Formats: sequence, C-alpha cells, structure tokens
Amino acid sequence: MNLPSKITICEVGLRDGMQNEPRLFTTEEKVSIANRLIDAGFKVIELGSFMSPKAVPQMANTDEVYRALGKVDGVELRALVANKKGVERAIECGCKKVKLNVSASKAHNLANINMTPEESVSKFKESVELALVNSLEISGSISMPFGSPWEGEIKLEEVEDIVEAYLSLGIEEISLSDASGMAIPNQVYSMCTSMREKYPQVKWWLHFHNTRGLAVANILSAMQAGITNFDSSLAGLGGCPFVPGAAGNVSTEDVVHMLDEMGIETGIDLERTIAIGKEIQEMVEGGTDSYILKAGRSKDLVR
Ligand code: ZN
Repeated sequence: MNLPSKITICEVGLRDGMQNEPRLFTTEEKVSIANRLIDAGFKVIELGSFMSPKAVPQMANTDEVYRALGKVDGVELRALVANKKGVERAIECGCKKVKLNVSASKAHNLANINMTPEESVSKFKESVELALVNSLEISGSISMPFGSPWEGEIKLEEVEDIVEAYLSLGIEEISLSDASGMAIPNQVYSMCTSMREKYPQVKWWLHFHNTRGLAVANILSAMQAGITNFDSSLAGLGGCPFVPGAAGNVSTEDVVHMLDEMGIETGIDLERTIAIGKEIQEMVEGGTDSYILKAGRSKDLVR
C-alpha cells in the first residue's frame, strides 16, 4: 500500500464537537483542554467559531478562550467564521487563522440564502480581504461534497466550481467536509485523486463524520490518494447536524491509534490523548463514539 509517512491531525472537538453538545463548556474548561492537547503534541487545533452567540451559544466564549490562551508558538489555533463580522472578532482577540465554510449542495444553498454555492463563496470577498490586510491566514471549507441529504450525489464539476471560486479569492487551503456522513471509500479515493491532480497548489484537508461507520475507511482511502491532513474530534465528540442521534466526527483516539499501529507519524501522544478523551466523555451526556476509549489500545492487550 502506498501511504504517506506522516499525517497532520487538526483536533476539532473544541469547535465542531462542542457546538453539537447541549453542555456549555466554560472558558477555563476549554483553555485547560486546549493546553493539554498542545502538551500531547497537537500542532493544529480548531478552537472555536465566531458566530452569533444566539445561534451557537456553545461558541459564545471563543473570544475569551483566544485571549486566555494567547499566542502559542508552533501551534495553529484555527476558528470558523461566517462573514466579515467574524473576521473582525478574530482580529480583536488575537486569532491568527480563520476558516470559511460553504455547503456544496445547490438545493440547500438556494433554499436557505437563494444563492448557488459559488455565489456564496464570492460573497466572502470582503472577509478574505479584511483577513489578509490584518495578516490572518484564511482557508475555505466545502461541506457535503460527497453527497447531501437534499440532492443525494453532488457532481464533481459542481465541487470543482466551488474550489475555483475559493481560488479566485486567493484561498489555497481547502477542506472537504463530509458533514452528512455520506462519503464512501472508493468515491473519496477518486475525488481526492482528481482534486490533487487538477489543483496541485491546494493544501487539502479532509473532514469525516462517522455517521455510518465509514470514517476511518474514508481516511485510509484519502491517504492512498495522497492526502496528509485530517480533522478529528476528541472522544468522537459532536453530532451529525442532519441525523439526530447519529455518530458525529471521527474519534481522534481511533485515528491516531490506527496511524500509530501502521507506523505513520502524527507527533501526537496517544496515551495523553486517551486521558483527555476519557475526561471529556464523562463531562458530556449520552456518551460519545470512540472505539479506543471503549476497548483501549491493541498493544495494551499484550502483557
Ligand atoms: Zn464536522
């Protein structure tokens, strides 16, 4: 199997995970988790989002979390933004990296905001300009490129149109996010292969939810296609926004365990990560989905 020797993981539990949890985490709790993640070797962490506190109360303290943590050398602390207001808040509290998001579903976009996905991306122009003038890094995300509950399959050309809209704004770091959990491994392999060939300048991230148990298989397929950057969430924290009660983000412990066992470098200390994951699991209601938190590492069985 031809696979990369090194993978970068972005821990998204503090944002994607927590925003889907009924429990509101305090600034102190978030800062403590972030510091422990940094100690465990994470180099990229999605710390929160700058959305309306009314719409996403779980993320209302993101500004405070950034202020309390300050700048951490060698660690990228990324946040999700939706518009210029979000970028302004990011600048204000010292956040240096923001990410925009658009749905790949034309039907979803037209119903919600009466715009196609490419039109939505073109509206990001002022956010991008403001970020760049203030030396913030900015990336873009495309959710549901592998399928949406609105139209089912999304055509590759439609996803390419969104990629090109981002490129025309100067964004060359793009995430493909399977928020609906509809991706399947052979589709992931072919989309990643074709995207990497067509847009070699792009730094790709892949973000899988484990809604149908396929997240780890999808990660492996993307790795075979040469992808080296993946999002995952502590303890599998988070839900699926479209399927109530379904599993959320792929668990960081499961991904790091697989990579460790395969001899692929992540720079992450799995034992420490498991300890943080277990603590979080106790803090949230209803349990979370992480095989490693249930079963432990396979090498711990050999005594
Ligand atoms: Zn997600």
